[in-house]
Amino acid sequence: MSAKSPRPYEQGPPESVLSTMNEDGSRRWIRPKLSKGSLYYKRLVVAWFLMITFLLIPHLRMNNKPLILLDLPKRQFTLFGTTFFATDTFLLLFLLLSILLSVFLFTALFGRVWCGWACPQTVYMEFLFRPIERLFEGSPAKQRKLDQYGFFTPRRLLKYVVFLLLAMVLAHAFLAYFVGTEQLWEWMHRSPVEHPATFAVMMVVTGMIFFDFTYFREQTCLVACPYGRFQSVLLDKQSAIVAYDFNRGEPRARKATRKKEEPKEAEDWGDCIECNACVVTCPTGIDIREGLQMECINCTQCIDACNEIMDKVGKPHGLIRYTSQKTLETQEKLSMLRPRVFFYPLLIIGVLTLLGVSLAQRETADLTILRAGKAPYTVLGNGQISNQIRVKLANRTSKTRIYTISLEAPKGVKLIAPMNPLKVKGHEIQSGLVFVTSPRELFNEDGRLSITFVVKDDNKTFKAKRTYNLLGLLKGMSPSQP
Ligand code: SF4
Ligand code: SF4
Repeated sequence: MSAKSPRPYEQGPPESVLSTMNEDGSRRWIRPKLSKGSLYYKRLVVAWFLMITFLLIPHLRMNNKPLILLDLPKRQFTLFGTTFFATDTFLLLFLLLSILLSVFLFTALFGRVWCGWACPQTVYMEFLFRPIERLFEGSPAKQRKLDQYGFFTPRRLLKYVVFLLLAMVLAHAFLAYFVGTEQLWEWMHRSPVEHPATFAVMMVVTGMIFFDFTYFREQTCLVACPYGRFQSVLLDKQSAIVAYDFNRGEPRARKATRKKEEPKEAEDWGDCIECNACVVTCPTGIDIREGLQMECINCTQCIDACNEIMDKVGKPHGLIRYTSQKTLETQEKLSMLRPRVFFYPLLIIGVLTLLGVSLAQRETADLTILRAGKAPYTVLGNGQISNQIRVKLANRTSKTRIYTISLEAPKGVKLIAPMNPLKVKGHEIQSGLVFVTSPRELFNEDGRLSITFVVKDDNKTFKAKRTYNLLGLLKGMSPSQP
């Protein structure tokens, strides 16, 4: 009887599946070796600038408003002193579209510079959490030794406490973008029992940050982040990427191998001495010499590591460097000019122009007329029909404004507005109930009567008209019928 050939799942995993996975499918922990080259110090400055900016922004004010406040429950977004209401969604769409197009342009030009230099995941992992980890656990070799004792050694527990505190600080800073610093400060001084929902949100955000930087780490870039997967669409052969110059590096060999293979001439060998310094420093665990990979976040650590080796072997820097696939293939000078780098800016200018025009034409207030009350209308004792209506005003200016509500309607139609004029503070929304009474003969056969609301402000910068259909009795219907 012939032996059965093994099924695919019985054959075991292929030799190389993921840089962060062992052959048996378990997690391979990445313990990158720090490479302190010139790019590292530049990234360090950028990272700390970004981290401090992130903490400061909720405290900064412009036009007496937070620089950025994303008030989701009220559906109001304050950006650089200007508040956008739910009715300004299209402006936010223009803004988001221009940001998205800028990301396209930026990636086409500079590859994943965002990932390596500015993404919060990289910035906090490499310049805050990882240095603290090195402080508690020592070099990658010492960390690997600690791995033998599991994750709950005293040193590691102490590190987790520090990580948890940092996660709490970051979660508070993050929440400040959504609720404002004053509200956050007030909650921090009250018992969590008094604001359980927000406390729960804070705990969840803290937990997510702690989980991310303690356990999930590079998996966020490799598995969860969609940007890495968009790379193949956004990048082209002329985009700047961190790449290994195979023309210069190959054939690669260790010094010992080179000696053994004499009389092969020294110039027959490439500059790569197979020291693996570029691999052990990589925070996603890949080998840049295998070419452009989705896992590469362009952090430049392999550039610094390789430059240090080149110094030691007396070769010029740049075996791994910022270059493009086209340059490596054709040996031509790096040129960034191609149709898409003109096309994207044109689109961005177009969208920003639309945004600018829309902003300039935006009225100083937004008026919304809504039907109010449970019943569509009420028949009053004198036989007249009363409609209950909500007048909602969003003041887009930074100053308090007083709005007067009036009607353009047939004779006999009356406006009863307890809150008229309506006072609305700068960048706030206020609504007031009004009643419109009218003789039943004025309604048409469908039981409708068209009127126009006119709203003006005290500063004469706003005047809006809204047509509104009052509801009333259908022809022939008796007042007792609903
Ligand atoms: S660091 Fe440079 S020399 Fe060393 S293996 Fe990587 S590419 Fe080769
Ligand atoms: S290959 Fe180099 S640039 Fe890419 S993630 Fe690894 S160390 Fe960073």
